[in-house]
Amino acid sequence: MLTMANRGRLFVVSGPAGAGKTEIVKRLIETHPDVKLSVSCTTRAPRPGEVNGVNYHFVTEERFDELVAQDAFYEWAHVHQNRYGTLKSTVQKELAEGHDLILEIDVQGCLQAMAQDPTVTGIFVSPPSRENLEQRLRRRGTETEESIRVRLNNVASEVATAYRYHYVIIHQDWGIVPNALEIATEEVYAIIAARRLELENRRDFLDALSASLKA
Ligand code: 5GP
Repeated sequence: MLTMANRGRLFVVSGPAGAGKTEIVKRLIETHPDVKLSVSCTTRAPRPGEVNGVNYHFVTEERFDELVAQDAFYEWAHVHQNRYGTLKSTVQKELAEGHDLILEIDVQGCLQAMAQDPTVTGIFVSPPSRENLEQRLRRRGTETEESIRVRLNNVASEVATAYRYHYVIIHQDWGIVPNALEIATEEVYAIIAARRLELENRRDFLDALSASLKA
């Protein structure tokens, strides 16, 4: 039986599209190999360059249905016409091996994970301002005025959920703060590092130290 001391912890990172959560998580696992990233299942088609089992487990609608029926998902959600889900087996394996695991998932999935497990740490990645998000959407050059308005409205409802998270990272505009990505990444790592130092994870050590001092 594993004690709390050698079990990993679960961190869910979420926030509006365009806030830069994918870049932050990518940099985090590159610079901190002690943190693992969960590979989700999805029904969407692979994009050029994406590898099955690395970026996602790409599955058919039928296979996704089977996994839902088998209660194989830790959480799952519909996101832009497709379904995405985190496998319970992935979470159980990584935590049992003592790895701290990141789920980079949508807001609905994050809320599900936090509701079912109070030990999950929720991290919301926010854009610095409405203007910054609007600029990013305009810079893409692919959005109409109407679709920019719709997207900003969607972001408003996503930001409304941020109050239910434990931490909020403000991903600054790199035009103003050139090392914004590095700062945000280290802030996420600081949360992980602090959770490792919590009393609950130090109890076995303190018990052993106390016993040795009494001997
Ligand atoms: P994309 O298709 O661009 O890779 O991802 C679209 C959205 O799905 C992103 O917001 C991403 O965070 C979210 N997503 C990816 N994997 C999962 C998952 O396992 N569960 C949930 N709920 N969302 C996910």
